[in-house]
Amino acid sequence: MSQKKVSFKTKSSKKKSVAPSVAASSYYTDSLGFMAMDSNVPGLSNVILQKLNMKSVNEYRSAVEGNSLAINFGIRTYAEMFQKMEDTYKFCAQCKKLPSRLPDPRTMRRCKRCQNVYYCSSECQRENWPIHKKFCRKLKVAAIDRLVEWLIFTGDIPFPTSPWTKCFTNIKSWDDWFAMQENLEEKLDAIMAGRYMGILWSNAGKPKPETRELRDSVKRLTTDFFTRPVTIGFAINTFCIDPYSGPVTVHIVGASHIETLNIRATDYDELAKIFPRNQGLEVVMIGPEVVEGPVMRPPLTAYGPRGKVYVSGYKSLYHVFWETLVENARAARPDLVVGFHPGFHASQGLAEGWLPTLLLLRDYNIPTLLTMYNEQELKYSLQILAELDARILDSGPFPFTSQKQEQVQSDPNKPPVSSNACYLLFKGATWFGSGTGMGELDLD
Ligand SMILES: [Zn+2]
Ligand SMILES: [Zn+2]
Repeated sequence: MSQKKVSFKTKSSKKKSVAPSVAASSYYTDSLGFMAMDSNVPGLSNVILQKLNMKSVNEYRSAVEGNSLAINFGIRTYAEMFQKMEDTYKFCAQCKKLPSRLPDPRTMRRCKRCQNVYYCSSECQRENWPIHKKFCRKLKVAAIDRLVEWLIFTGDIPFPTSPWTKCFTNIKSWDDWFAMQENLEEKLDAIMAGRYMGILWSNAGKPKPETRELRDSVKRLTTDFFTRPVTIGFAINTFCIDPYSGPVTVHIVGASHIETLNIRATDYDELAKIFPRNQGLEVVMIGPEVVEGPVMRPPLTAYGPRGKVYVSGYKSLYHVFWETLVENARAARPDLVVGFHPGFHASQGLAEGWLPTLLLLRDYNIPTLLTMYNEQELKYSLQILAELDARILDSGPFPFTSQKQEQVQSDPNKPPVSSNACYLLFKGATWFGSGTGMGELDLD
């Protein structure tokens, strides 16, 4: 999601707050030392890895899979693992005090209703209530979802999906998508009754939610898992790129740990369900913060396997990748470029790597879809692209946003955000003429 010249392993969280000239949000380190972006939530991020005292993705993975809890950095039980994750949310929502700064850290109390925000004292809780009451209900959902998210890492979520029985144009929402899934209720039942669901709630340190709440959470996490492949499918369909007549190469620009931490080679297989009998789909993750892992293999130069999805990765700024690999025929040219929350609307992001990338995409006339966390980000992103004379084809709320609500970690009493909440499509520059573009779009 970002294209900054920092590596995942460096302490980018030490970055100072920069007053943004273009937008209201930017990277900053809050008073608690969290690397945070107002409009972004780390989820299972660098922050949590650091809190868990793990140095690599592999260590993290083996811990969540339960392979090496005993030898792993002091984490001996699942209860401890969940506790450490919860610790990253533990600070007074009113005065921002951390438990370690209290005479007795155990006096930190939690809002009973949402089981999410913490207070150092009943005074702070009382003072905070007028603001918190606006978000308490949503934060309850967010607190359930961030625990249930663990089931993505254990592999319980998602359930095995069915090939799409309708073409993308007829699928307008997640409801339509769920309606296509055969034996949906049984598949959800299996997750609800799974071993890890049991382990989760015996160790979470929070009461198990009602069955209905939990089932809804599993469905929201399912959309969270599939929002990225479905977004790519949406873009392929909207730009009328034909995956049946030839292989399709998709570049994910500005990919970071959010897209690549814990990624599995099968994570984009839904694309093959959307486009069965495709001639080969390749998804290449490119960004300076791409995390080393099983899919970090070189991009394909020849065609990928038919009917399948091949994921690869490359760690660098996009325009550098282009100059190094694409121009030297060491990677296929993209039919489509997708950026998940590029965040170039933050002045810092733009200066530190996005500008050459955006100009490259514009000048090579590449169909591009970008997503944002909210309307405000969308507005600023559109402004910047307009200043660059990029030809915007469409924008607005995105129908396949993740339904998982994430709290703004640095300040819970803000509206929670969702991945891929908004989107925009652009292709080429305004001076390219109207011979290509809108006319090609299937805007049914
Ligand atoms: Zn307080
Ligand atoms: Zn609450």
